[in-house]
Amino acid sequence: MSRDFVYSGSPAHIVFGQGKSALAGEWVEKLGCRRALVLSTPQQKADAEALAARLGPLAAGVFSGAVMHTPVDVTEKATEVVRHTSADCVVSLGGGSTTGLGKAIAFRTDLPQIVIPTTYAGSEVTPILGQTEGGRKTTVRDASILPEVVIYDPALTLGLPVGMSVTSGLNAMAHAIEALYAQDRNPISTLMAVEGLWAFKTSLPAIVASPGDVDRRADALYGAWLCGTVLGTVGMALHHKICHTLGGTFDTPHAETHAIMLPHTAAYNAAAVPDLLASATAIFGGSVGGGLWDFAKAIGAPMALKDLGLSEADLDRAAEIATENPYWNPRPIDRQSIRYLLQDAWEGRRPA
Ligand code: NAD
Repeated sequence: MSRDFVYSGSPAHIVFGQGKSALAGEWVEKLGCRRALVLSTPQQKADAEALAARLGPLAAGVFSGAVMHTPVDVTEKATEVVRHTSADCVVSLGGGSTTGLGKAIAFRTDLPQIVIPTTYAGSEVTPILGQTEGGRKTTVRDASILPEVVIYDPALTLGLPVGMSVTSGLNAMAHAIEALYAQDRNPISTLMAVEGLWAFKTSLPAIVASPGDVDRRADALYGAWLCGTVLGTVGMALHHKICHTLGGTFDTPHAETHAIMLPHTAAYNAAAVPDLLASATAIFGGSVGGGLWDFAKAIGAPMALKDLGLSEADLDRAAEIATENPYWNPRPIDRQSIRYLLQDAWEGRRPA
């Protein structure tokens, strides 16, 4: 196999460690800013207000209207608040939904962003923004979208419910699995992907057993950084395409959909590129699809698409949409094979 590759490092500052969210004000100043608008979802409003209080005069205010899938009308409202508070940067405190809002504001205004992630989704280290308007989700990639500073503070993930910790972790692992066989993979993305998978393999079962274990929470957040970074660096394939289809057309929940689909898409591609998935096979055991399925089941992940409200009749359409625009995948894709794969995922069957 050829060793040729292109590697481009991401220019973000990564600050990692327990209690490091206390440095948010310092980083606002390091960016040359004086008025930060703190963003959150309605559910994390109290945390955002507490952060704004700690920022003191460096806080321009709080906008707590972030929601899933970054609707453009919410972004427009938040951008209006940026204008009338004269904010010169945003601080996003939360999961992928809040990070998405900060990115959408930055894309429109070029304001710098500080992100303090509280889930494992990985959006904070990618230059990718998915946004919705008129029921359609579109994706844009631009340098202005990549957050300038990310502060990973495991203490802020202690309250992430166990079920969400599991699905969010599996969501991040899906970035790493697809990075292993990405067409544009490079030695660094592969090292990061393998390390990220190890971090979740060891931390998720420990978090299920003991959600308040801050050291294992730190391991999972470390995995989130690694897996998110490879998502931002190399191209994704079948798995992300199917999850995008299911979420975009059938409104299935983001992290749960990734969690259910991962063993099936990994098994499908392992048939074509077993060598590229050998490191994942070594981590999860057996065949990579079966090993990932056993791991997900053992930590209490949702296992079947039918439990997400998807009907069996939806599978034909899902297979059609997921295969209609030709895109690169290590194993050729045809509608019938994807329909079989979706049936297994719908029923929650262990991949062969
Ligand atoms: P989320 O941000 O929607 O969070 C889910 C809920 O959990 C929210 O109510 C949130 O406030 C709450 N929450 C978050 N952290 C918490 C904590 N520590 N304690 C208690 N509650 C907490 O969920 P997500 O899975 O992180 O993000 C999903 C979104 O991110 C999707 O829209 C997806 O498309 C996007 N995403 C984008 C990228 C990218 O690179 N563009 C990557 C991954 C995900």
